[in-house]
Amino acid sequence: MAPGLPRGAGPGGDPPKTPRDRGDPSPRTPLGLTLGPVKASPQTQLRLLELADLDAELGRLDHRRRGLPEVTELGRLEVRAGELKDALIVTETELGDLSREQSRAERDVDQVRTRIEKDRARLDAGQVSAARELASLQSEIENLHRRQDDLEEVVLELMERRETLESQRDELTTGRDSLGGEMAEVAARRDAAFAEIDEQTAKASDQRASLAADVPADLLALYDQIRKTKGVGAAVLRAGRCEGCHLSLNAADLNVIRASAPDEVIRCEECRRILVRTPESGL
Ligand SMILES: [Zn+2]
Repeated sequence: MAPGLPRGAGPGGDPPKTPRDRGDPSPRTPLGLTLGPVKASPQTQLRLLELADLDAELGRLDHRRRGLPEVTELGRLEVRAGELKDALIVTETELGDLSREQSRAERDVDQVRTRIEKDRARLDAGQVSAARELASLQSEIENLHRRQDDLEEVVLELMERRETLESQRDELTTGRDSLGGEMAEVAARRDAAFAEIDEQTAKASDQRASLAADVPADLLALYDQIRKTKGVGAAVLRAGRCEGCHLSLNAADLNVIRASAPDEVIRCEECRRILVRTPESGL
């Protein structure tokens, strides 16, 4: 049956109806199957399948490169590292403040102690003899002792807070260091994966280039144009089914293909990919 003839006009009568024929309210005529102006020998058309395999491989590699789990993991670790760094800065700042506060309190203790010693020396030297002055001096010494106790308590408290902060800082530092190690390890794995992907990509690209060099320019242009919109430029016709979109062709379409010259470049009506015929096409 010639492509131009209406369905059922062939010498063999109507082709057997398929369920799709009956169910389709606007059945596709054989004319709907696009036979492009591009022609290529069956051998050349078979190369398109190899090309499609390589393109699929390149697509998988690109997808793998974009979706590498190490990249996501590294991003997560970087966020954590940033948090640790911020927490360390806060802790270091607090520690600095505490340290200054402690020095101040210690200086105060020293001053009070010096004053007590001075007062006691006056007392011991018998310099003060008047009863009222003596009582006043003794009361001052008592007050100074209380002040000293209070200040020493403040110093102790500050020291305790400092110890807590110091152990907190140590924990943060340890965390930061081990995170740094983990990040280096993940980055190394990521780089190894990138290197592997790049190597495989280069290999597939080389194969593709040498394969594409054997495909006529008009066929390659058609293939690439379909590939850009469909992702895959060519598919095999296997057992009456387009392996690109997995649609079974109806009997009329198959008849058209059967009647087509081997060098006709046929496209799937459904997905528009180039349909490559092989001995397994079921024709
Ligand atoms: Zn298809």
